[in-house]
Amino acid sequence: MKTKHIALFPLLLAFFLLPACAQQSSKENLTEFPPVITDPAHYNELTPKEERVILHKGTEMAFSGAFHNYKESGTYICKQCNQPLFRSDDKFNSGTGWPSFDDFIPGAVKEIPDADGQRTEIVCSNCGAHLGHVFFGEGFTKKQARHCVNSVSLDFVPLFNDAEKAQHPDNGIQPLSEYIKGKGYEKYEQATFAGGCFWCTEASFDLLQGAVDVISGYSGGKKDYPTYEEVSSGTTGHAESVAIFYDPAVISYETLLHAFFIAHDPTQLNRQGPDVGTQYRSAIFYHNDAQKASAEAYIKELEQSGKYDKPIVTEVAPYTNFWVAEDYHQDYFPNHPENPYVQRISKPKVEKVKKAFPDILKDGHGQ
Ligand SMILES: [Zn+2]
Repeated sequence: MKTKHIALFPLLLAFFLLPACAQQSSKENLTEFPPVITDPAHYNELTPKEERVILHKGTEMAFSGAFHNYKESGTYICKQCNQPLFRSDDKFNSGTGWPSFDDFIPGAVKEIPDADGQRTEIVCSNCGAHLGHVFFGEGFTKKQARHCVNSVSLDFVPLFNDAEKAQHPDNGIQPLSEYIKGKGYEKYEQATFAGGCFWCTEASFDLLQGAVDVISGYSGGKKDYPTYEEVSSGTTGHAESVAIFYDPAVISYETLLHAFFIAHDPTQLNRQGPDVGTQYRSAIFYHNDAQKASAEAYIKELEQSGKYDKPIVTEVAPYTNFWVAEDYHQDYFPNHPENPYVQRISKPKVEKVKKAFPDILKDGHGQ
């Protein structure tokens, strides 16, 4: 079973990978930023304590600032000029008592040799406010950089305001519409399938030319913003699903259906192999009448072919919603080849699809 004990491993991994992979979040700018001030005559007024650090390059006492242990999602901006400097996604706990970031917003931070002749000072690229220092190669994160910043040099703009927070929990789940915003997928069509563990389903469709993006998530359920744990409990009605954005000029919906039925067993009711529960049911969530007709016709054809000795139990239902799963579930198969579940369960399924469609595999997946 993939649930619980194996799920703990990706959770731990996600904890370490998050700073690197959470940057593609499209959730920015949901709360308003104060305008960046470029005229020095209008900089925000500073308290004497702030002046000592920002203007005179002082250092606040370790563990004394407001942000060294701050964990809210949002953006850190310059106290003096409001320029956005660091994202909470790049913040990590260094244990030093100062806020630490392994990256900064491109162009926002300038490095200059410190007057002590050894360290590298970091300042706001807009107003020159002293922020702190940057240290490299210490091994804290993959990026090997620690931007050690005084809390007093920063202000914070939360990702969500209170009203949005109430209806938009920051739990790593996004509506599909938000996730694809700005990606230009309007010109493609969407197919949505559930065929057991989405790690396998995603990897199977990812092989095929014309499948522009395959996204793992939760579909066909009732609760908004459902987490993996909630869906795994089997109580939300969602199925682990994939949303496929495909170019109909390159691959047809019929071919996707064909691949879907190769990649999973449509005769297993509410399970796929070791994974048991309605969240692993076989389902086609159609987006229009043409998809519905194709799905029903293909299932009928399969039933008449005698390929299966048991009835096909695939649910054919109208598409209602799709919640993009937590970051660590995306591209799980290529990212975790060593995972025993991937080895034993996912790989054989993906290999079956590879074998069935040798002529339409993306480059790099050929035999
Ligand atoms: Zn500034």
